[in-house]
Amino acid sequence: MPKWEDNLRQVTPYVPGAQPQSKNVIKLNTNENPYPPSPKVVKAIQEMDLETAMRKYPDPTSGDLVHALENYHGLDEGQIFVGTGSDDVLSIAFLTFFNSDRPIIFPDVTYSFYPVWAQVYGIPYREIPLDESFRILPEDYGWIDPENRASAIDEGGDIPENGGVVIANPNAPTGISLKRGYVEQIIAANPDVIVIVDEAYIDYSRESVLPLLHDYDNLVIVRTFSKSRAMAGMRIGYAMSSPRLIRAMNDVAQSINSYTMSATTLKAGVASIEDDEYFRARIEDVRKTRARTIVELKKRFFNVLPSSTNFVFASPSRVKCETLFEELCARNIFVRHFNGERIRDYLRITIGTDREMDALFAAIDEIQG
Ligand code: PMP
Repeated sequence: MPKWEDNLRQVTPYVPGAQPQSKNVIKLNTNENPYPPSPKVVKAIQEMDLETAMRKYPDPTSGDLVHALENYHGLDEGQIFVGTGSDDVLSIAFLTFFNSDRPIIFPDVTYSFYPVWAQVYGIPYREIPLDESFRILPEDYGWIDPENRASAIDEGGDIPENGGVVIANPNAPTGISLKRGYVEQIIAANPDVIVIVDEAYIDYSRESVLPLLHDYDNLVIVRTFSKSRAMAGMRIGYAMSSPRLIRAMNDVAQSINSYTMSATTLKAGVASIEDDEYFRARIEDVRKTRARTIVELKKRFFNVLPSSTNFVFASPSRVKCETLFEELCARNIFVRHFNGERIRDYLRITIGTDREMDALFAAIDEIQG
């Protein structure tokens, strides 16, 4: 074995959902939007001076997009960090904020990239089990109900010592959302570390923690253009926090790569933000189809978790999950199956168009007989 083998960084990478290149598939496996982005996004790119955009380096501050997002969310200057998808933003956030010997904590069932970043950056971590209904309990993240404070402390004050907290809200792949007040309990219970709230699916939900940014200096919120803005292929994500924490993220990011966002990506991002009417209408379309999907799956004897996202997490009771997954694949319908201990009986099904969902229901009927 060559000596350099000892010095290779060994990691088990995150496995993204399949991206079949054929057009003849119904793709319900990576939570993409079934609708196109605003026509204004495509137009903005078509109207660019592409020769110049390709020849020159893009703006290293991503100024136009950062300012568009600051205005859109009513934030002050310096409160937005942008990156190439929220994966990039989360990865930079891990690298920037999690430098303690104590483990960072996140749920055992959540976005499976979190443990991968922890491993690649050498950050110790601990997975906190969701309860039996797949809910995140603030008590497991250090929150002590004031009414029970005395008894909790008598029992040794069960506050886990941690180096940071990561919560996806709504959570994935469960789709379950925690009300703002409960997320606030987690943020409030951990004032000495950074709490990252990954809001990849928040536009399909109701309660963002954005209004809490004024009150907590340890809160970092991460969002993406990949789902509700139908721009997964453009790779845009962003973080919202205090200028102090955003500066720290920019310092780290700029120490790795000065130009992460391409000129076309920046243009597309701004155009999307400017067409709010289209954005909201497509969210409503997905919400309607989601409600119908839940009813149709329940009719077919699935256990369906409540969803605040553009997917449902559902467990068939008439057929084995793996069988259903494979039979759907054989019919060119792609959904996602995770082999985790607690979730292997569930499929994560992205909400597509009504026609795509009808094809899914027909296929399920055929498979279940
Ligand atoms: N967070 C969660 C919870 C996700 O499900 C995803 C999508 N895989 C991401 C972040 C990353 O999305 P993107 O990099 O496309 O912004």
